[in-house]
Amino acid sequence: MADCECLEKCAFLNEALKQMPASAALYKKNYCQADNAKCARYMVFKTLGKGRVPLDLFPNQTERALQIVAENPIQANQHGRWTLSENDLAGLTPLKARDLLLKCFFEAQKETLVQAEKRIFGSADEERIKADTLKMTKSLATTFHVDFENPTKIGLLKLLEEMVKMSLAWGTPQEIVDHHKNQIVRMLDTLHD
Ligand code: SF4
Repeated sequence: MADCECLEKCAFLNEALKQMPASAALYKKNYCQADNAKCARYMVFKTLGKGRVPLDLFPNQTERALQIVAENPIQANQHGRWTLSENDLAGLTPLKARDLLLKCFFEAQKETLVQAEKRIFGSADEERIKADTLKMTKSLATTFHVDFENPTKIGLLKLLEEMVKMSLAWGTPQEIVDHHKNQIVRMLDTLHD
């Protein structure tokens, strides 16, 4: 997996953990050079921007990251992009998580459409994009043996993985994919198995 884009100038590694090289190396191995989408610092960075990441936020503090994002809805929405809200996470069930995954997929495609000013599905109509993303998600669920009607956390993680691949194959910009993937990873982190 590629290194985190923040690695070179990460304030946490270079400043906060300056006197603790062993800990820094461990975080680097588990997050920065493994899966930075799970890093709390990266989540805040991608959603709100570099200036909103507290120096003392540890990569494993995902709940705190979620709280920071929830407390800064205006900044998050300034990007005109969909972001998880506290309401989304309240009473989260596998079915609600599945619907949020669908919404996320739709929002990522919609944002791509707006940014690129081109048509991905042959129509810029939102209802059409919704219908197409639902159809594609169901098709992925069937292909990868995920029960769409009674999803599990593991099944939703698998769907997410395939949606990410498909979005990139469609030409969805990496930055949009990363942002939306982070929302779902955070959401699924709060879902019990
Ligand atoms: S994964 Fe987290 S800690 Fe590592 S460089 Fe990226 S933002 Fe910094």
